[in-house]
Amino acid sequence: MTVLRGAMLIDGTGAPPVRDATLVVQDGRIESIATGAGGSWPSTHEVIDASGLTVLPGLIDCHDHLAFHGYELTSRWGLSEPGSTRNVRTARVIEQTLAAGYTTVRDAGGLDMGFRLAVEEGLIRGPRLLTAVAIVSPVGGIGDRVSPSGHECMVPHDPALPASVANGVEDVRRVVRTMIRAGADVIKCATTGGASSRAGHGPKDPAFDRDEMRALVDESHAQGRKVMCHALGGPGLRLALESGVDSVEHGCYLDEDPELIPMMAERGTFFTPTLLVYEYHSESKAPHVRERSRGLRAHHRASIQRALAAGVRVVAGTDAGGHGHPPNAGELPLLVAAGLTPMQAVQAATGWAAECIGLEREIGTIEKGKRADLIAVAGDPLADIAVLADASRIRLVLKDGVVSVRR
Ligand SMILES: [Zn+2]
Repeated sequence: MTVLRGAMLIDGTGAPPVRDATLVVQDGRIESIATGAGGSWPSTHEVIDASGLTVLPGLIDCHDHLAFHGYELTSRWGLSEPGSTRNVRTARVIEQTLAAGYTTVRDAGGLDMGFRLAVEEGLIRGPRLLTAVAIVSPVGGIGDRVSPSGHECMVPHDPALPASVANGVEDVRRVVRTMIRAGADVIKCATTGGASSRAGHGPKDPAFDRDEMRALVDESHAQGRKVMCHALGGPGLRLALESGVDSVEHGCYLDEDPELIPMMAERGTFFTPTLLVYEYHSESKAPHVRERSRGLRAHHRASIQRALAAGVRVVAGTDAGGHGHPPNAGELPLLVAAGLTPMQAVQAATGWAAECIGLEREIGTIEKGKRADLIAVAGDPLADIAVLADASRIRLVLKDGVVSVRR
């Protein structure tokens, strides 16, 4: 049971900050919010002086790959080290992510549900985890694990990470059900290539047909799972939206078809741009990757600006893993540079992000009755959003009301 006193409070709803706030946390939830000398609590509560700090909702990354450690084939196929070492490496990333102020992460593929169980059981400290398990795509899509030589991944598959290639309506339903059996909280699919996908399957090259996507969305929704869809541009991007996916991941070329953004606004489809990964790819050694990511940059920014203007919810995701695990909040200054206000960038990683992942009743904003996922940062994110990306400034992290990190 904790009381935070004296902080500047940004509640994640977009409301202006409140100075000298007092937050009372009880049984894992926010019991009361007052200002100045207000508020009361039992004498057994620990009172933490948070004056000089800014308190925000625990941050949320809507698109991460916690169990990826580099784009090299040997690493991607799990050949570069024993599986045990790799799992411990992933556990360390999970702990660091919490320490950086992220109390919830939606993993977009690669993380088996065992990590979620380990966090829930308290074996490791980490954010609340939602996982997609693996990326569903057809043969040749980004979920199809084939080397540049054309060899299919020869590593025996792990039952906790089932094969995710699906072809045809019946098979798509089978694979979605398989992901859910393996513990998927959300279904991740791909209707286009990407910047780093194989030559010949680029950002505007489609994957899946209309019937397959309808079946995928229908089956996922029937089982209460949202669909997050990797889609960069071209006909596959339109197909994703028309099929009713819940969020468009990357969405770099949304600006090219004037009907798409209005469609997202009307349907309430979320947009997770993931800018950080393309900064990385712009310096890639592979010419086709470099060219694709440099080519999409101006479109990506235009897409974000138009989406904001149309009222589409833009949310923060890093697509980390392949490009290492930098501080997840490194995405936020890029969102500001692309046109979000600092307050909107905070919302993209708190209130709006919680809506995107379907947990808005529990987390994402600081309101009475919500789970006490809170961080205290040294500095004012509205004056300099980059303070959130400096882990040494994250002085306090509470998850479910428990003080997990204190510096
Ligand atoms: Zn991704």
